Amino acid sequence: MSEQANSDLMSKVVALCKRRGIIFQSSEIYGGINGFWDYGPNGAPLRRSIEQLWWRNMVEERDNVVGIDSTIICHPRVWHASGHVEQFADLMTDCLACKKRYRVDQLEDPGLCPSCGSREMTEPRQFNLMMKTYVGPVFDEEHAAYLRAESCQPIFVNFNTVRNASRQKIPFGIAQTGKAFRNEINPRFFTFRSREFMQMEMEFFCREEESMDWYEYWRAERWKFYTETLGIAEDKLRWNPHENLAHYAKAAVDIEYLFPFGWGEIEGIHHRGTYDMMRHAEYSGQEQDCKVFDQESRESYFPTVVETSCGLDRICLMMLCDGYHEDLAETRKEGKAEEERVLLRLPAAIAPVQVAVLPLSKKLAEPASELKNQLRRHFRTDYDEGGSIGRRYRRQDELGTPYCVTYDFDSLKDQAVTLRERDSMEQQRLPMAELPAWLLDKL
Ligand code: ATP
Repeated sequence: MSEQANSDLMSKVVALCKRRGIIFQSSEIYGGINGFWDYGPNGAPLRRSIEQLWWRNMVEERDNVVGIDSTIICHPRVWHASGHVEQFADLMTDCLACKKRYRVDQLEDPGLCPSCGSREMTEPRQFNLMMKTYVGPVFDEEHAAYLRAESCQPIFVNFNTVRNASRQKIPFGIAQTGKAFRNEINPRFFTFRSREFMQMEMEFFCREEESMDWYEYWRAERWKFYTETLGIAEDKLRWNPHENLAHYAKAAVDIEYLFPFGWGEIEGIHHRGTYDMMRHAEYSGQEQDCKVFDQESRESYFPTVVETSCGLDRICLMMLCDGYHEDLAETRKEGKAEEERVLLRLPAAIAPVQVAVLPLSKKLAEPASELKNQLRRHFRTDYDEGGSIGRRYRRQDELGTPYCVTYDFDSLKDQAVTLRERDSMEQQRLPMAELPAWLLDKL
């Protein structure tokens, strides 16, 4: 695709998200706040269902992974131990002419302002990305705390409490999903780089000797999640191995997706060695809580960690960009045989609406609503009786609704409805009694 077409595609996705209440700027009536996004009535179910798929895949379907839900604010020492307070910084530079601020690694020429073309750029400076707040009634350094910059640190801190409670033995993993906050210098590409976002992380604790086997195992599992569970084509994904490994890491790789603005990271799979557990042992002074006891050697050791860490908002954005399509559909509009339609080809499991019930006439509202109530027990169901049937189909296509069910006057007599499929637009007649089982099978 050309650069122009890609930029158009991104603008179309952003416009669709606003128009249909999927994602829009936070606090918009106040002019918005840079790097913060709200999910609307069609975005919340999309994000929630992707999170549920991940949770099911990573926690519920496995014997050796358990899930937790920790607080966003932890003891501030956690972030000293993790290195975030001292080191979690990006190099930034300011343009003295137009006052814009940039991340040095995002500039082609750090001496040139890409916005106004000035060469009056400041020397690069460190900029810490942690968001700070105060806990308790006194606003001083002693009461300072941080909003978590990643969701995994509480997993390390809770390691032995969780292990004992769940009676897990090494090797096993602890997972969690939740908010993370980073004071990004330059939020951009819609939700791709936000200041408040959701992470889905799993820390797998194992023995050092087996750690590279587990690393390979989790790489393969996570690739399958994108290609098989979410149905992303392999040629839109790639591996990006880290060139500069942290001193304690044996390996690290990102999974990237080809967004309209270029390749962007959606997940990192990292070998973290024993670094995190050793740091928390040192900073908390509670070494026994960061180690496990080996029955054979009768010694305690720090487990090695393999991490899978992805951004839920980036996955949502990927699904929206990937699903966005335009094609032609038949129309009854005067003087036209076909019209352009916009559709989101979302997998049925994550579509905000999974089935829409559309009565052909408002006179059919009662029996059609009854059908809706029945379907609602199993699926995210919408009901729409406003406007021509073509218009209603278009509205559902834009949201990615995989199936529309039309209730017409014949339905009263033959107890059957017309089922229309989103991508092929093919229609078929099905007995109403068979509909839930038919849809369950497809969805
Ligand atoms: P980047 O290099 O893009 O800043 P990162 O390498 O710092 O990302 P990690 O710390 O490895 O990211 O975080 C794991 C995942 O969290 C990323 O793969 C991404 O999906 C998500 N993520 C990180 N930062 C953001 C952000 N600012 N907005 C949205 N998602 C993010």
